[in-house]
Formats: sequence, C-alpha cells, structure tokens
Amino acid sequence: MKTTIQALLGALMLMLLSLPAIAAASGYTQTRYPIVLVHGLFGFDNAAGVDYWYRIPEELRRSGAQVFVAQVSAAEDTAVRGEQLARQVEDILASTGADKVNLIGHSHGGPTVRYVASVYPQMVASATSVGGVNWGARLADVLQGVVDNVPFSGDIVAYLGNALAGLIDLFSGGGNEQDILAALSSLTTAETIAFNQQYPEGMPSQYCGQGSRVGSNGVSYFSWSGASPLTNGFDPSDALLGATSIVFLGEKNDGLVASCSSHLGMVIRDDYRMNHLDEVNQVLGLHDIWSTDPVTLYRQQANRLKNYSF
Ligand code: CA
Repeated sequence: MKTTIQALLGALMLMLLSLPAIAAASGYTQTRYPIVLVHGLFGFDNAAGVDYWYRIPEELRRSGAQVFVAQVSAAEDTAVRGEQLARQVEDILASTGADKVNLIGHSHGGPTVRYVASVYPQMVASATSVGGVNWGARLADVLQGVVDNVPFSGDIVAYLGNALAGLIDLFSGGGNEQDILAALSSLTTAETIAFNQQYPEGMPSQYCGQGSRVGSNGVSYFSWSGASPLTNGFDPSDALLGATSIVFLGEKNDGLVASCSSHLGMVIRDDYRMNHLDEVNQVLGLHDIWSTDPVTLYRQQANRLKNYSF
C-alpha cells in the first residue's frame, strides 16, 4: 500500500515538474513572425540594468516567441520615431530571415508602430497598441496650452524634457536625437487627429469606436488599455499617475491616456485594473495583485497572433 502511494506521489511530482516544459514545448507564444516591442515617451529598451518591458520579453520567449526590444528616441515626433523603428525592423528581418514582424507599442509606441504599419505594410503582420495615444493625451494638451500661452515656458519644458530624454538615452545607450517639444506636440489631440487622417489604417472612424481587425493595408490591428490610475500602494509611481489623472475630469483613463483614446483595430479591452505603467509591468512588477497580471496579456496576445496565423 505504502509503495503504491509513494509511486503515485512520485508520478504526480514528475507530472508537476514537467508542466513548465510542456507549456514551453507547446509553443503557446510561438508566433509565425518575430515580435518587436516599442516603448513610449521617455522610454528605452534597457537603461542602467532596468528593462522598460519588465519581465515581458522573457515570458514571451519562454514558450516559443522570438522577441526584439526596439529603441527609438525617448522624446521625438511620431514620424521620426517611426522611421527609426522602420530601420530596426529592416535589420530584424535581415538577421532572422522573417518576411514580417508583429509590432507591439506602448503609449507613444502605439502611433509609432501604426506609422510603420501604414508606411511599410509589407514588413508588418500586425500592430498592437497598449495604452496607446491614438486620439490625443489630455496632459499633452494642457502642457501645450501652457507652452503656447506662458512666456518662456517652452524654453523651460524644452530644457527639462530634453535633459531627461538625453539622460535616458545616455543610460540606455541609444544615441538618438531628442526633441521634447516635437514629442509633446505630436501627442496633442489636434496633432493625433491630423496624424490619423494621414495614417488612418486600423483607426476607428469616431472617438471611442472600434476599428476593423484587418486594415485596408492587410495589417491586423489590436489594442488594450488599463483604466485604473491607482492600483498598488507599494508602487511610488501610483502617486504620480493619480495626480496626472485629474486632467481627465472623470473620463475613464489609465493616469495618462483616456481609455477611448487607446482604441485601435480590435479592442481587446479598455478597462483593465491597470495604470499606464502597469501596462508594461512597472514599477518592477507592482500591479493590482487581485487582478490580471500585465504579463499574461502579452502572452495571450502572442497566442492570438499565432492563432490568426497571418
Ligand atoms: Ca504599477
């Protein structure tokens, strides 16, 4: 009897130990084309040992995805960032032999991946926007209003913003040009609407609507976003996002971007209990512990991309 129980326990242990191997072997995130992650304003790939996409590339690679983390200017105009990204995509295609990539952009990375999908659709299988500034960022509107109307404030914003972007670039070894005033302008509602008219693929025809999953250029479009500025009392960034969220005057937002502004293509969900930094699993994985793990959404999206098999 005892040996039977021991044998059963042994078999159970063996099964539990082999579960991660089964998950990895199953290729849950094994997309046909490489995944390229594209950061937002004041973002980077890896700066002084800290990853912008905290634990996300590792968790995607664990079950089969090929993942690249792009680095474009921390603060620049969308088209400038887009052209920088396009050159990196060309390098990725050359080094992997893949025909296309799956782009995933966070925040200003949303319009950045859309730019590449619109201008170079032959290189792009899908464009996914996470907390993307696709229809303006209210904070950018407010700051732009200050810059336009308060004497010398543009100089101060330029000085501080470019200094911060330059510092991020230095620590992350980017070597990219920085222009905070161009970045700020391209994130305003007026400029994003002009951008959408020029690059309409995947965008809903009206604010807060759904776009079509497959754009007229053949690229597939997806988006998701959080809608909770405050999610974890241990995360110091919650105070900042709680403060910035007041500019929304009650409209659903993640602390920096309105849920409705994040909509692109097939809207997976726009109200996860996540703030703007939770969306990339920051700071250091601190998010609402009772709600969806941000990393899970990236794994699910990779699986979705795999199943649509472009
Ligand atoms: Ca957080």
